[in-house]
Amino acid sequence: DGPFHRLVRATARLPGSGWTAVSLLSLKGVRKSFGAHLVLADVSLEVQEGACVVLIGASGSGKSTLLRCINLLEVVDDGVVELDGQDITDPRVDGDEVRSRMGMVFQSYNLFPHLSVLQNITLAPVRVHGVPRAQALERAHDVLQRVGLADKANARPDDLSGGQQQRVAIARAMVNAPRLLLLDEVTSALDPELVGEVLDLLQGLREEGMTMVLNTHEMGFARSVADEVCFLSDGVILERGPAEEVLGAPQQERTQRFLSRLL
Ligand code: ADP
Ligand code: MG
Repeated sequence: DGPFHRLVRATARLPGSGWTAVSLLSLKGVRKSFGAHLVLADVSLEVQEGACVVLIGASGSGKSTLLRCINLLEVVDDGVVELDGQDITDPRVDGDEVRSRMGMVFQSYNLFPHLSVLQNITLAPVRVHGVPRAQALERAHDVLQRVGLADKANARPDDLSGGQQQRVAIARAMVNAPRLLLLDEVTSALDPELVGEVLDLLQGLREEGMTMVLNTHEMGFARSVADEVCFLSDGVILERGPAEEVLGAPQQERTQRFLSRLL
């Protein structure tokens, strides 16, 4: 193995010669059943750093299950999930540590009603991840500022609008400076007039380079943020590609039918 071989290896890594960057997140052959119900049959997905991948598909197609498998809230039956090149489905992996590297936001915000906004955001860093309280508070103020709610630190969730509560939930998901955000239908529970502020926030995060995997029924939003749209059907990603292709000119009949029903 001399200089020539080293040169060949080096050129093989140049863009345009088939070399691809290591994915931030990589799913290979992920399978998940609940009892006899096979939800994810064989899902593979590569998410590059800074990319936004949008999952679409009918209700019950497994979008939430897929996000929960990535976040280790579900144990996969088969296949591998890698974060930063590490197999996080390895049973020896510390789930809390892995989750500290991802933020997850749910449709229903899941804020603790008896805690202030600030306490909601600092709870997991302090209790689960061992972040010193002063540092957690400092970070909480930073993320609240980022989501435009610096003045709501001491409010209770009930005092906030749905859109504000969801922005708090997004702030909470960002407090550990995660490598990626997982967002599960984060606008579905909101009154229509409150959807925009949450979508604007996510659009801003995406422009700042936050890596995101999300699912949504807002096709206009999907089109504006997605680097890649994945249509989930029958336990597999049936069709994937740039938003304008998958949403604008779907190739698969099932994708066409799904999209035409949304019109
Ligand atoms: P989507 O988010 O695309 O609507 P889900 O991932 O929530 O779909 O659900 C996919 C399927 O898996 C549904 O049929 C749902 O009922 C089922 N499912 C999800 N979670 C569970 C669970 N914990 N136990 C049993 N079935 C589940
Ligand atoms: Mg769901």
